[in-house]
Amino acid sequence: MEEKFKSVSIYDLYKRFPSRESCLAYLAKIKWESGFTCKHCGHHHYCSGGKPHLRQCSRCRYKESATANTLFHKVKFDLVKAFAIVYFIATNKKGISSCELSRTLQLRQKTCWLFRLKVLSAMETQRNVGLSGKVEISDFEIGMKKMMKKGQEVRFKKRVVLTIEKKGKGVSHVYADEVKSRGSNQINSVAKRTINQDALISCYKWHGYDHICQNYQVISRVKKTKKTIMPLSNRIENSIISWLRGIHHHAELLQYYLDEFCYRFNRNQMKEGIYDHLLERMVHHRPRTYLELIS
Ligand SMILES: [Zn+2]
Repeated sequence: MEEKFKSVSIYDLYKRFPSRESCLAYLAKIKWESGFTCKHCGHHHYCSGGKPHLRQCSRCRYKESATANTLFHKVKFDLVKAFAIVYFIATNKKGISSCELSRTLQLRQKTCWLFRLKVLSAMETQRNVGLSGKVEISDFEIGMKKMMKKGQEVRFKKRVVLTIEKKGKGVSHVYADEVKSRGSNQINSVAKRTINQDALISCYKWHGYDHICQNYQVISRVKKTKKTIMPLSNRIENSIISWLRGIHHHAELLQYYLDEFCYRFNRNQMKEGIYDHLLERMVHHRPRTYLELIS
């Protein structure tokens, strides 16, 4: 997917969004594209709230800014830099760490880390496209280590169920779901959310897959050994693991990162359109507090 990705220059970005005003104008345009509705009373008429891109409901006088009730809600640093963070996340073919964002934009690492999570929220997999045709379902582990306060290192594993839709010799769509344990129920519930009933399934022989094999038409079941694997699924698994190690170095908030990987993979044909797509999603996404983000 990476060769197809075409990046847009940072020069173009700053030319397009040179000031807070230009960012607000863009947010207002997307936010009220299909008209104004007062969040307070549902009224559709408004007048100017006294500042650029601030609208005031003409019935209840409630004022709403272009950033309110979006993922840009109460952003405490320069909006131009916030747009740049979205740009770097959207256009870097493998994503970008909060440390690198902090160095590039001269913001605190924690500020970048938190805003980065907000951007990743907008990348959340919506699973509104059920996989169909030839579909592979598999599961794998990601080994992790965590430093405890006393300097003690704790190693643990997280488990992921991967579903992929095949197209020709490649993969057209990917979903990756963190699951609590390796069990038939977990695998079955992922399959229900992501795979259409008419799909033709390939999976491993392990008994945890027996249940989904009763619900779908199965074309092959492979005994998983080092030599006999499902090559496409295995390739995606390895890409996810090496990407996590390379960019995030850890995977504590794993589902965010899995969603980020799938978002990028599933939109690899969008090229530079991915930036606008992500900004739009951020505008239409409800705000998220710090506690919501990390829970
Ligand atoms: Zn109102």
